[in-house]
Amino acid sequence: MIKKLLLLSITLLLVNCGSSSKGNTASQMKEATTIDPTEYATTITSDELKEMLYTYASDEFEGRDTGEKGQKMAVEYLKNQYKSMGIATPLGNDDYFQEVPLEKQSVAEAKISVNETSFKSFEDHIVLRSPGNVSISEGEIVYMGYGIDADNYSDYKDINVKGKIVLAKAGEPKDAEGNYVTSGKPENTKWSYGRQSISSKRDAARDHGAKGLIYMDNDLFLRYASYFQRLASAGIPGRLSLKSNEPEMMMLMVNENLGKAIYNTILTDNEQKLIKTKIELSIENKSEIVASENVVAYIEGSEKPDEFVVISAHLDHEGIKNGEIYNGADDDGSGTVALVEIAEAFKTAEKVGHGPKRSILFLHVTGEEKGLLGSRHYTDNDPIFPLENTVANLNIDMIGRTDPKREEGDRNYVYLIGSDKLSTELHNISEAVNAKCCNIELDYTYNDDNDPNRFYYRSDHYNFAKNNIPVIFYFNGTHDDYHKPSDTPDKIEYDLLENRARLVFHTAWELANRKERIKVDKAFAETKLMGQ
Ligand SMILES: [Zn+2]
Repeated sequence: MIKKLLLLSITLLLVNCGSSSKGNTASQMKEATTIDPTEYATTITSDELKEMLYTYASDEFEGRDTGEKGQKMAVEYLKNQYKSMGIATPLGNDDYFQEVPLEKQSVAEAKISVNETSFKSFEDHIVLRSPGNVSISEGEIVYMGYGIDADNYSDYKDINVKGKIVLAKAGEPKDAEGNYVTSGKPENTKWSYGRQSISSKRDAARDHGAKGLIYMDNDLFLRYASYFQRLASAGIPGRLSLKSNEPEMMMLMVNENLGKAIYNTILTDNEQKLIKTKIELSIENKSEIVASENVVAYIEGSEKPDEFVVISAHLDHEGIKNGEIYNGADDDGSGTVALVEIAEAFKTAEKVGHGPKRSILFLHVTGEEKGLLGSRHYTDNDPIFPLENTVANLNIDMIGRTDPKREEGDRNYVYLIGSDKLSTELHNISEAVNAKCCNIELDYTYNDDNDPNRFYYRSDHYNFAKNNIPVIFYFNGTHDDYHKPSDTPDKIEYDLLENRARLVFHTAWELANRKERIKVDKAFAETKLMGQ
């Protein structure tokens, strides 16, 4: 009851007190929506959603695992949907696929001998990165102490490491008061400790043109070595990751035993110098390139074609495991077919001259289950449209079911996550549009910064939000079939799927047609969980 009351009060607030932004929202909505989108929203039907989902989440699609046959079928299916609706691709030439180059990292093994003494994989060294097969026979290694390159403290100041192998060690010097030299504070810095120090020191060596980094960190080595050995011995294919654009640099982690063999006073000496150590090193790289694709289609805006609303859903799922197909009907088959229907509704409007004023990109991303890879590739490597011209991202991931943990409230609900985190206006619009068109119970349970589930960071909108693009994540919560082979089309509640898809359509309609582009009045903040 309270919620409705609150809703009522917001609407009243919108209409009566006319506080500047809220008043604006309502009046601009009135103006922008002289064309009533309802007739287009009604083209989004549970029958069509059902028909598509029974195909898209059928066994034939083999659970749509990224890079696998099922995922290829999924992108072909989506391309054909857009072609048949006459919706164009922003890439031109009938090309609906944005390539997403991935890499399956397998644990590489190195053979190392120092001054004719050989050292074993996983006992003394592990390969963290290897740009293909490597073979090095060096008489010269540059010892860089801690290998730090900060503005106020740099080990790279007076020495040239271009084309050399750098040897560096974990840690960071402290001043007399016990503060780290780069920060002047006692707390750990990005150089002093842990995984972060590895990537910081890797970037420093690479940025100075080194061809390889041998990094001694005894603590981390003990933690990593057993894990890498398990992966290698079990022949577990490595994790899929985005193929890096950066030229790869060879990187080894070694323990103290090997560190001292390369440079015997490494623990006590911090001074940079060339060291004369004969090192024989060869690495066989087993990583493989995996081709994957995002599917992109768009409708160009009639008045502000250079402003974009991005509506997204992920096209992939878990594939086949232990011979069982993970159909992923809710995750994220529901979002996928909803996105297709939403596109159709906008196209139907455009055909009668009611096309959107701003451009709309329909973005089906791959590799979500592997770490938000497709959306990260879009935002970090290859944004088809400038991020600064991207007005908002509406991301749909799992909207076909209900959350059994949600004991109270109307079944006609949806969890909204992120709507008020970057733009107050977006939140108000979302509320007002829903009050006008759909009257779905908008549940903000998972929108809490301290929510332990951290759903705000767990789907593709995150990559837009981190770029300060206002987002709304539409989600129904997890359920008993979440990430199970039993997440099948027969379990979907198609009436709710229809309602939620229509809400996303109406919200996108308002964002695409309103006079003013919504304002970003808050900056993206990554909140750490208590004790994290
Ligand atoms: Zn998902």
